[in-house]
Amino acid sequence: MEAYTFNTSESYAESLDEKAELTMFRDEFYLQNDHYYMDGNSLGLLSKRAEQTLLNSLEDWKRHGIDGWMTGKQPWFYLSEKIGAKLAPLVGAKEVEVIATGSITANIHQLIATFYHPDGKRKKILADELTFPSDIYALQSQISLKNLDPVEDLIRVKSRDGRTINEEDIIAAMTDEVALILMPSVLYRSGQMLDMERLTKEAHQRGILIGFDLAHSAGAIPHELHNWEVDFAMWCNYKYLNGGPGSVGGLFVHEKHFGTLPGLTGWFSSKKEKQFDMEHVLTPAETAGAFQIGTPHVLSAAPILGSLEIFHEAGMENIRRKSLSLTRYMMDLIDHELQGMGFAITNPSDDRFRGGHVCLEHDEAARICKALKEKHVTPDFRAPNVIRLAPIALYTSYHDIWKMVQILKTIMKEEQYKKFKNEREVVA
Ligand SMILES: *Cc1c(COP(=O)(O)O)cnc(C)c1O
Repeated sequence: MEAYTFNTSESYAESLDEKAELTMFRDEFYLQNDHYYMDGNSLGLLSKRAEQTLLNSLEDWKRHGIDGWMTGKQPWFYLSEKIGAKLAPLVGAKEVEVIATGSITANIHQLIATFYHPDGKRKKILADELTFPSDIYALQSQISLKNLDPVEDLIRVKSRDGRTINEEDIIAAMTDEVALILMPSVLYRSGQMLDMERLTKEAHQRGILIGFDLAHSAGAIPHELHNWEVDFAMWCNYKYLNGGPGSVGGLFVHEKHFGTLPGLTGWFSSKKEKQFDMEHVLTPAETAGAFQIGTPHVLSAAPILGSLEIFHEAGMENIRRKSLSLTRYMMDLIDHELQGMGFAITNPSDDRFRGGHVCLEHDEAARICKALKEKHVTPDFRAPNVIRLAPIALYTSYHDIWKMVQILKTIMKEEQYKKFKNEREVVA
């Protein structure tokens, strides 16, 4: 690697693009001219390959009707397993440990229903107070279903600074009252990355099961779920993995737990060869496939197949290296160009603790985001004061980042944001 000789010029941004890795993938995505998409951490863009595998499934339906389950370009009966096997290297799992199914929230319900067995004093679930609300709602309802108290029995580790969670505080909260832990790999707002290997070790030393929500790391960061001996994990495929709006999610169950009866069962939990015996006694699959429930959402899964080819060709280590370089460049540029304008970068700066996005705080964040959208920059806003900006390794250029920062600088200098109300939209 060359020495990092940062400067704020446009030509410097262009020179970074000339030297950059992974630039051949940008043309595979549907980018709009003169638009700067910084929201690939909420909804990744469509690639031509994802479009093609979706069209393949439509074609299979068109030509084969019901026979599409077993014939055609992408037979539907094994599609979830096939995608699971392709997802496995991205999360550091064996092929049989991953299945494409459900959504993050549905998969939390499935995996908590499976692994949460309150026993006497050891009856609490440990999460954190900065976690995404849906995860908390799911945990609360799972606790209620056990006739326990969703207030008393859900511990949420407190944040010292309102942005990050100190790992020492998580470990200190792993008492003998805790049955199970669910933590994010990367916090959705500040982009803080937790040390999953360390937390797993600490949890297991205390006899506690631990799972991770990989929403903000799947497709952005390499994982070693199997070697770390993580018990379970879930993620969506529509953020960094570019599977499309509402695309089917993914889950991981460590092979040491194969044979554990899923908390929620259905006919797709079956061993594939037994499913159509139509017996009233379930014979569960001996893989993560057992954690499926009903018929797969084929049209919401098909694009993932094409999208994952790109990840395999690019390689997760390369994606992570480029992502770190893009976010580093963005932070440096913001520091230099937006000084004295009321912004604070509040994601961890250290590469070891930084996820895939930059977290920019400003008191006027809601209307600054509206002004950015008017100028064809797509950020995302998290109330009350956060602008999240995610440069994506597969399709964002250094020059895109340079343009975005220049647009933001003009918005601030000319106070263009003041014509908007400082309130969020219904969907932010
Ligand atoms: C995006 C996200 C979700 C969304 O869950 P769905 O069930 O896919 O709607 C849940 N948790 C986290 C941490 C997220 O980032």
